[in-house]
Amino acid sequence: MTRHDRILFAGDPHGNFQPLINAVHKHQPEAVILLGDYDLDKPLEDYLGEIAEMTQIWWIAGNHDFQSPCKHRNLFQSAFKDNSLHLKVTEIAGLKIAGLGGIFLGRVWYPPKEPKWTDKQHFLVNQPQGLKNGGMTLKYLSAIWPDEFQQLKALNADILVTHEAPGSHRHGFQAITELAVAMGVKQLFHGHLHENYSRIIKHNIKVHGVANHAVSDLLGNLCS
Ligand SMILES: [Zn+2]
Repeated sequence: MTRHDRILFAGDPHGNFQPLINAVHKHQPEAVILLGDYDLDKPLEDYLGEIAEMTQIWWIAGNHDFQSPCKHRNLFQSAFKDNSLHLKVTEIAGLKIAGLGGIFLGRVWYPPKEPKWTDKQHFLVNQPQGLKNGGMTLKYLSAIWPDEFQQLKALNADILVTHEAPGSHRHGFQAITELAVAMGVKQLFHGHLHENYSRIIKHNIKVHGVANHAVSDLLGNLCS
């Protein structure tokens, strides 16, 4: 029998990783997947050292992880920098897991409205000359970009993990629902909204919202 706690999903830690650490000691999962919003004052490995040798650690970024250069660096230049699931499909504990970090931003794309920019290059070439070489601000890097979203949509996976919610939640987006359908996933786990819930959406996809500091197994059961 396959274990439903072989992968655990962690909702927005916001600096508190203790519930996840406790759950790893108790369940000894093959992998944990972090759903964004870490608020890191120090590199991620400094928080997770106790479990780093016990399990695989995978993540997507939330909006908070772009709030300051410090928070951004402590994630994107951490010892786990290569374990991002964003915009790809990764085989974890026998399942194909797809990831979409970041959020929809009005200044880039806020579905169902049309995108303001189709991709990062489109945005950059339309900026005043002096800004072009500076590249993108962290705010823009936190956005879900239409071209990247479409490329992800063409892939197939068993599970999709996102920071934003799909249309199953009153603050969610139908575009995320359509992404899950197109990718043929059976389950979707998301953070961001600080609410634990499970709901079935179209194509019998099971959505699990994981609250801040909460930890869920593959069935959406909360772990402690
Ligand atoms: Zn968030």
